[in-house]
Amino acid sequence: MRRINHFIGGKLVPGESGRTGPVYDPATGQQQAEVDFASVEEVDAAVASAADAFAAWRSASLSRRSEVMFHFRELVDQRRADIAALLTSEHGKVLSDAMGEVARGLENVEFACGVPHLLKGGFSEQAATGVDVYSIRQPLGVVAGITPFNFPAMVPMWMFANAIACGNTFVLKPSEKDPSVALYLAELLKEAGLPDGVFNVVQGDKLAVDRLLEHPDVRAVSFVGSTPIARSIYETATRHGKRCQALGGAKNHMVVLADADVAMAADAAVSAGFGSAGERCMAISALVAVGSVGDALVAAIQERLPNIKVGPGDDPESQMGPLITREHRDRVAGYVEGAAGEGATVVADGRDVAVDGDGFFLGVTLVDDVRPDMAVYRDEVFGPVLSVMRVDTYEDAVRLVNDSPYGNGTAIFTRDGGAARQFQFDVECGMVGINVPIPVPVSYYSFGGWKASLFGDTHMYGPEGINFYTRGKVVTARWPDPATSSVDLGFPRTR
Ligand code: NAD
Repeated sequence: MRRINHFIGGKLVPGESGRTGPVYDPATGQQQAEVDFASVEEVDAAVASAADAFAAWRSASLSRRSEVMFHFRELVDQRRADIAALLTSEHGKVLSDAMGEVARGLENVEFACGVPHLLKGGFSEQAATGVDVYSIRQPLGVVAGITPFNFPAMVPMWMFANAIACGNTFVLKPSEKDPSVALYLAELLKEAGLPDGVFNVVQGDKLAVDRLLEHPDVRAVSFVGSTPIARSIYETATRHGKRCQALGGAKNHMVVLADADVAMAADAAVSAGFGSAGERCMAISALVAVGSVGDALVAAIQERLPNIKVGPGDDPESQMGPLITREHRDRVAGYVEGAAGEGATVVADGRDVAVDGDGFFLGVTLVDDVRPDMAVYRDEVFGPVLSVMRVDTYEDAVRLVNDSPYGNGTAIFTRDGGAARQFQFDVECGMVGINVPIPVPVSYYSFGGWKASLFGDTHMYGPEGINFYTRGKVVTARWPDPATSSVDLGFPRTR
């Protein structure tokens, strides 16, 4: 069985803890590799390697750091297809989704290429007579990233591109479910000229995470994953005196007003509800039909569903791949069963889909007449299940969005600019789409939700990412008047 190792000090390091986890091909259901699970000593070795590399990397000029990022950008660009194929083989998403993931990750590398500009401080000449004040931003030291299974290339790039460009050194703990892409990116960073030790990967589970959270040399932790783990990561990291940004789960609503373009809204609901098999933190999970639009909207979505071909991600014909594990597929299917039992109407049942072999497939599922008390609405399902909720008024829709414990993304579909503007004012979410179902910000803004979708006060990547990975220093400077120098510098002695 193929073994997936750690990457420490610029090279692959086989694990010696004796603990491993299985990595599946979700399209066949077969185990394809074993991933090493790090021991405390192995995590310590990765942190030590990052700590040793810090002084030199921090001293590297801005143009040198930017040059490495540019080179890395070129390498990722050239290898898009290879990275996408690796993503598909372990995650299961279709190749077009995987290519999209690489593209959205790459944006963050491109942003980080601008680090000389991003780290410019402020300068106040003559703040007092003969006194100047200026600000600089400096890296923190060793920083850690802990990432989820659903975007194994993009989410690490959200973190490490800015962290490294700012002069930090990095330890990544990827998801144990699809751990290979992290190593591929590590090799590309090395090829791009990144010194050994600046970027390290430790594979593993809770044990590795817990060690990173308490390690005295880890200065900051970025986390993306489910809400219960995000909350506990935030509490533990901050208790140990670290900076922490912990992004959690989501339950995203798409509100459709009666004046919306129904065909446009139906296309959006299908792509945002079922893209990547619904395993996106920005997936639309609840479709909120306001007033009279419900029947037409459900009919338009239903009409589109037979066109979604479910199959292996590496088959160019497939539009939706399998779920990540058998257990997760069964859990998602359980919500469909539960919703029917609680009185919802199952319009399309993904459990009916048959794909050859033992892959972890579930077809697209549309559930109508969902109420807020049903489990399919209360919980983050994280699968290809779209719930339709019918409400009478705009106020009812906003109340539904705002009563949700999550506040990641939301969207409104309408032709009325005033209604859209009011919605962006009213909703308690970090990211809002107007006739855009998945409003993931471009890399020069920052990504983050509100409420149980983010613990901490800093969103990820973009300008907030630069702030997170640096600390400010303000210098107040006064120089002796050159006219008073003991050496005659040629200045007039009196002025
Ligand atoms: P997860 O929380 O199970 O795992 C995330 C990471 O935490 C993994 O590296 C995992 O190994 C580690 N982990 C798991 N259990 C742990 C524990 N008990 N202690 C310490 N570490 C632990 O999440 P997942 O299933 O990999 O990813 C899906 C979740 O991530 C969904 O809830 C999704 O909404 C969320 N997500 C959120 C965003 C966002 O930006 N808000 C983006 C992507 C995914």
